[in-house]
Amino acid sequence: MTHQFDYDLITLGAGSGGLSIVERAASYGQRCAVVERGDIGGTCVNVGCVPKKIMWFAANLAHVIDDAGGYGYSLTKNGFDWGKLVEKRERYISGINQWYHGYMKELGVDEIEGEASFVDANTVSVNGRHYSARHIAIATGTRPRVAEIPGGEHAITSDGFFELEQQPDRVAIAGSGYIAVELAGVLNALGSHVTLYLRKHHVLGEFDSLVSTTLLEELAKSGIELRTNCEITRITRAASGRMVVEDNHGVGLEDVDQVIYAIGRAPDLEGLKLENAGVEVNQKGFITTDIYQCTNQSHIFALGDITGRAPLTPVAVAAGRRLADRLYNNQADRHLDYELIPTVVFSHPPIGTVGATEEAARAQYGDRIKVYQTRFTAMYNSISGHDVPTAMKLVCLDEEEKIIGCHMIGPAVDEMLQGFAVAIRMGATKRDFDDTVAIHPTSSEELVTMR
Ligand code: NDP
Repeated sequence: MTHQFDYDLITLGAGSGGLSIVERAASYGQRCAVVERGDIGGTCVNVGCVPKKIMWFAANLAHVIDDAGGYGYSLTKNGFDWGKLVEKRERYISGINQWYHGYMKELGVDEIEGEASFVDANTVSVNGRHYSARHIAIATGTRPRVAEIPGGEHAITSDGFFELEQQPDRVAIAGSGYIAVELAGVLNALGSHVTLYLRKHHVLGEFDSLVSTTLLEELAKSGIELRTNCEITRITRAASGRMVVEDNHGVGLEDVDQVIYAIGRAPDLEGLKLENAGVEVNQKGFITTDIYQCTNQSHIFALGDITGRAPLTPVAVAAGRRLADRLYNNQADRHLDYELIPTVVFSHPPIGTVGATEEAARAQYGDRIKVYQTRFTAMYNSISGHDVPTAMKLVCLDEEEKIIGCHMIGPAVDEMLQGFAVAIRMGATKRDFDDTVAIHPTSSEELVTMR
């Protein structure tokens, strides 16, 4: 370590990105500190992936109980104890928090609690105390965008959803992305009445049309009330505490317990005073980085959601580890390849997708694209009597039919995608898929038997 600094590396934010870089850097013998003003683990652990997946499991069980009748069981749902699940969920998360504290200690990483702000390009201040470092990594993430409408202060976001101690009976959700469709599916399965406000006539607008149109149909079939081409214009809270939601079609929704906004996330730069370090942000306020996670300042880096690129936990983790490899382990060209990042939406049914959508591929390559697709009802769903579709698509390029996109919706595709993503990243062609012996009877075999 250069003696003029307190640390080799200080990371701002102890979320997926921040923890992954200090973990790897410490393993290379670097003296590290991580500054965090909230709970260790960041969005993913505390108000994102982890609690969401627990709620999704609970919702899945509700579907399984409904399906059981088709298999000869006689089961009824005798209520659902939201409080009990929330308590177990929070205990589980607190276990992860504790584990991380112990792990940081074991690694010799100093945890500094509080809000960091830059004093200069090598120094941050936390609670009035200054800490200097040779390298600083900014990994402060994003926070949910809020409703900018009259009465918007009555709405909550996904953060507020995870604070709910009681199950809302009637919920309005605004938004069409990951969070809106995931929370709508969970709440609906658990028995809340859900109205989903979509400002266009679609969900997951950036996804391949096969999965986005299939999900829209399933949301409608599931009992969720869809209001399409529709935006909430005002929220009013009555003396009873319940709300009235008005929309741009002049239609009201009364007796609403919760309004949830899930309309994207904004960079969290609060209090950072980036100007003191001369770090540039782009027009949307995200920190500008190159492929090596470098900002415009040679020893300041940014990773994870704060860069505005592929805002997913495993992306932040991968970027952090690679950056530490490059800075502290002589791997000069090590960096994250942002192509072919697989992603799953935990909707009901789930979606798994990697690579180019058919629409994007045709726009780029025209007639050089060939598409294979299938739609079927999985054996499990045929017997259960609940007709949930499975749909799959492979997007192939040129005569060799290199697979450049794979899009799936249906039960179990969330666990199906990871292995196929490896093959696609390795450059698999349709022929490679055809030459792979199928596993029978599964849904995934359809991916290697498409004609
Ligand atoms: P998303 O970016 O996924 O979707 C937000 C969408 O809401 C916009 O694309 C827009 O779509 C719509 N929207 C924007 N403004 C309004 C408005 N004023 N009223 C109504 N609709 C509006 O954002 P999320 O908040 O859902 O999630 C943020 C990110 O977090 C995701 O992009 C994802 O990367 C990550 N995430 C990942 C998960 C996972 O891996 N499973 C789970 C949850 C989040 P349009 O205009 O097309 O309707």
